[in-house]
Parts: sequence; structure tokens; C-alpha cells
Amino acid sequence: MSRLDTIFEVIFLVGFVIGSVIRKVYTTPSRRSKVVKKRKSTLDIILVGLSGVGMAMPLVYLLTPWLDVADYPLPRWLSWIGTVVFAGAIVLLWRSHVDLGRNWSPTLRIRPEHTLITHGVYRYIRHPMYAAHLLWAIGQGLLLANWLAGWILFVTFVPFYFYRKPKEEQLMLDRFGDGYRQYMKRTGGMIPRIWK
Ligand code: SAH
Repeated sequence: MSRLDTIFEVIFLVGFVIGSVIRKVYTTPSRRSKVVKKRKSTLDIILVGLSGVGMAMPLVYLLTPWLDVADYPLPRWLSWIGTVVFAGAIVLLWRSHVDLGRNWSPTLRIRPEHTLITHGVYRYIRHPMYAAHLLWAIGQGLLLANWLAGWILFVTFVPFYFYRKPKEEQLMLDRFGDGYRQYMKRTGGMIPRIWK
């Protein structure tokens, strides 16, 4: 089966390139910054790695015929919804990187100049970047008509989020104390607290 033969595969690839550029541009300065506090956990590293595999798997799908056995018919209207979700993921990924700035890290870390971010998209939710990844995972599933390449990120990211969230919030509580406790009261994890 030839590749990039549907508009949705092309849309995915374009989004993938934009998302990768956003990641690279905004995370390069933080990768060079020092670390004062770390929460090392093998399971956390494994789960981050699996999510990485989930993000990269579409490239295997788009560039080789190896995953074709897992193809299935996906209705076009669902893929159009996927396009909107995927675009939302990219916008949220970009905004959260802009707002979090140099405080970003791939594993749990506190930096010497770490500040508590509560503005921008962080005003509404504590985990906009993880929300962006979840939207990305759903968009990927709805754009690629292949069980494996489509849904692997969703399957790997959800356990990562449930494992990481309490650990990250504990780290932030240890570092920022009441400031973060108050912030937790006003915000939702991934869904804004619109009823408050
Ligand atoms: N969970 C956040 C950030 C992901 S990056 C999100 O989804 O947007 C992970 C790093 O961000 C962690 O090591 C933590 O130190 C840092 N972090 C998380 N929330 C933060 C906040 N509100 N202000 C500053 N740093 C934060």
C-alpha cells in the first residue's frame, strides 16, 4: 500500500513536523539549564520512553509497509474531527511551552531559577502540556487508519499521565508549598474548573 495516500496522513505529517519544531525551539534552552531537585524513577523514564515510541510509531507506518496488517476502515468524518483535535493539540503545545519557558523538563526536575507559572494557559489548568499530548494522541488515532500507529500513543500516554501527575504535584508542593496548594484549588488538572 502506498504511503501518504490520504489527505489525513499528509495532515498528520505536517502537524508532526510543526510539533517537533515547537518542541525543539522551546526546549533547547532548558536542556542546558542546571537542576537542583530531581525525582528519579525508573518507571517514569520507561513510561516517557514508551510515549516517545507511541509518538514515533506513525513514522514507521508512513514510511514502511510493516504495520499495514493493522489497517482498518476509518470514516472520513471522524478524521476531520481528528484534524480539529490535532490542530488544538499543536496550539496548546505551543502556548504551554511559551508560558512554561525554561521551567520545562522531560523528567521531574526543579531548576535553580525555577518559578511557579500560573499565567497564560496555566491559569486554567495545571497540566496543559500533558493535555496537549492527550489531544495529540486522540488526533493521531483519528487521523491514521491503523490500530497500532493510530492508538499506540493513547495507550502509552494515559498510564504515564496517571503515574506522573501526583508525583509532579508533590514535587511542586515541596518546592512552592502554599503557593502551589492555592494554585491547585483554583485550577483543574487537564479540564478547567469552570464551575468555580
Ligand atoms: N505538567 C505541566 C508541565 C510539564 S513539564 C504541563 O503539563 O504543562 C514538567 C516539569 O514542569 C516538571 O519537572 C515541573 O518541575 C515543571 N512544572 C510543572 N508545573 C509547573 C508550574 N506551574 N510552574 C513551573 N514549573 C512547573
